[in-house]
Amino acid sequence: MDMNIALIAHDAKKELMVQFCIAYCGILSRHNLLATGTTGKLVSEATGLDITKFLSGSQGGDQQIASRISYNEIDLLLFFRDPITPKLEEVNEVTLLRLCDVHNIPMATNIATAEALIHALERGDLDWRDLVNPVR
Ligand code: PGA
Repeated sequence: MDMNIALIAHDAKKELMVQFCIAYCGILSRHNLLATGTTGKLVSEATGLDITKFLSGSQGGDQQIASRISYNEIDLLLFFRDPITPKLEEVNEVTLLRLCDVHNIPMATNIATAEALIHALERGDLDWRDLVNPVR
């Protein structure tokens, strides 16, 4: 089953996201990918993956992804956060993470959890999302 996977990486984590997507390109290519603007551009350039790009995070791209989550159109969020640098958009991030909890969207905020989730995805462990929202 193909899933809708959202990708967001803060500037300090963009290279890590690119490396992650190169490493798991084979798995990711079997799903629908969406991303904030710059993250999507960097990942698609490095991997050739087809990615639906939203606005840049600072322009509201993370909120576009949040609204997709509200519509239950996202099955997995990989959000590589920079936990060190304070950011103006922190309030939006809290909203995004909260919406994942409201809608029971599996999410990773660091690469360790992302790896665990990508393997779970590959095994079909996340297919229960089909039962939650069969018309997805
Ligand atoms: P970006 O947005 O991918 O457009 O940079 C993510 C972010 O908020 O840094």
